[in-house]
Amino acid sequence: MFDIETLEKWDKEYFWHPFTQMKVYREEENLIFERGEGVYLYDVKGRRFIDAISSLWCNVHGHNHPKLNRAIIEQLQKVAHTTTLGSSNIPAILLAKKLVEISPSGLNKVFYSEDGAEAVEIAIKLAYQYWRNRGEKRKAFITLSEAYHGDTLGAVSLGGIDLFHGTYKDLLFETIKLPSPYIFCKEKYGKLCEECKDELLHILEEILRSRDDIVAISLEAGIQAAAGMLPFPRGFLKGVRELTKKYQVLMIVDEVATGFGRTGSMFYCQQEEVSPDFMCLGKGITGGYLPLAATLTTDEIFEAFLGEFGELKHFYHGHTYTGNNLACAVALANLEVFEEEKTLENLKPKIEHLTKRLEEFWELPHVGDIRQLGFMAGIELVKDKKSGEKYPYGERTGFKVAYKCRERGVFLRPLGDVMVLMMPLVISFEDMDHVLNTLKWAIESL
Ligand SMILES: *Cc1c(COP(=O)(O)O)cnc(C)c1O
Repeated sequence: MFDIETLEKWDKEYFWHPFTQMKVYREEENLIFERGEGVYLYDVKGRRFIDAISSLWCNVHGHNHPKLNRAIIEQLQKVAHTTTLGSSNIPAILLAKKLVEISPSGLNKVFYSEDGAEAVEIAIKLAYQYWRNRGEKRKAFITLSEAYHGDTLGAVSLGGIDLFHGTYKDLLFETIKLPSPYIFCKEKYGKLCEECKDELLHILEEILRSRDDIVAISLEAGIQAAAGMLPFPRGFLKGVRELTKKYQVLMIVDEVATGFGRTGSMFYCQQEEVSPDFMCLGKGITGGYLPLAATLTTDEIFEAFLGEFGELKHFYHGHTYTGNNLACAVALANLEVFEEEKTLENLKPKIEHLTKRLEEFWELPHVGDIRQLGFMAGIELVKDKKSGEKYPYGERTGFKVAYKCRERGVFLRPLGDVMVLMMPLVISFEDMDHVLNTLKWAIESL
C-alpha cells in the first residue's frame, strides 16, 4: 500500500507530465485527483474542486455520469477491444451512423482514431492522397498563424503557435500562412468586423488564384482556442468555404475543441451553415471519458480511394485501437445524454449568463481583453491596462491566478496569461457563479 506522501513522491519521480516544466512541477505541491462526481473533482486529500476546464476541454455531462458509466460497463461485459482493420464491431458501426446524422450534411464517412491530433493527421493524409489518387500532384497546405491542431508532426506543421511549434521547424512540411483573424482584425480595425473579414478573404483569394498546387486549407472552427481563445469574425468560415469551392481546394475544419456543444450548437460549422470536406472531432466526443477521435469526410473523397486491390488506392493508415469498442460505446451514450438531458437547450441561458457576467471583468485593473464564443471564454491578464503591456512570460501570472483559485475550490489551467473558462456544459448556475466569483477574486488579488 501507499500513503499520500509516497504517491506524491512517485509522481515526481516517475511520471513525466505533458506540457509541464518538470523542474517547476517538482518544486510545487502535487494535485492528484482520485474521483469525480458531476462537475466536481476530489483529490487524494479530500479537497473538492469545480472542474472549470472540463478536464482539458473534454468533459461534457459531468464526471461519473450513471448512463456513461453503464455504457462502458455493459460493453466491457461483452468485449473491451476488437480490431477494426478489416473487421468491425457494433458500437463503432452505430456511432459512425449517428455522427453522420448529427453532422453537417455531406459528411457521410467516418474514420476513427484516438486523439484530436490523429484526426488531423488523417485529414492531412486523406487530402493529400485524394489528389494523388486523382492523378494530380499537389503538395501545399494553407494554414493560419496561431493555429493549433495537436502535437504530432503533421498537426504541428499545420500549427502556428511559435512557442509550441518553433523548436521543430526543421522537421515540418512548409505551409502558406494566413494571418490569425483575431490578431489581424484587432491590429487593423480594433475589433472583429465585416471589413476585416472581407480583407482576410481577399488575401486568401489572391493565394488561391495564383497557385494550382494547393491540397487544402485547414482551420479551427470559429475560434483559435489554444492560442488563447481568439475568435474569428462571424462569416469567416463560410467565406473560406465559398472560396475553397470556387478554386477547388479542400477544406479541413478542426472541431476538436468546438465540437459537441461547446459553442452552443452541436458543431460550430452548423452556425455558419458550412459543410467542409473534412471535419475533425475529438475531446468531447466521448463526453470526456475515453480517448476517441474521428475524421468525417464526404462521399467524393471516399470514392477517390475506391479501386481494385492491386491499384493501391486505399488508405494505408490505422492504429491498433482504431474504433475501440468501449470508447465508441460511451461516445454513443454521450450523444444520447445530449438528447435526454436537453443539453444544448439548457446551455443557451448559461451562455447568456456567462456573457453578462464576463462584462464585470472589464472593470478589473489587470484585465486587458475578454473573448468568448458560446460557452468558451478567455480572460487575458495584462500588467498595464493602458499600454497593454504583458507580464513577463517567466512570471507565470496566469498560473498564479489559477493556483489562487484552488484555495476556493476551482480548478483552472490557463494558456499563458489567458484565464480559460471551459466549464462542463452540465454545470449549474450556482457553480458557474462560484467559478466566476472566485476567478474575479483571484484576479483582483494581483
Ligand atoms: C486539443 C486540440 C487538438 C488536439 O487534440 P488531442 O486530443 O490533444 O491530440 C486539435 N485541435 C484542436 C482545435 C484542439 O483544441
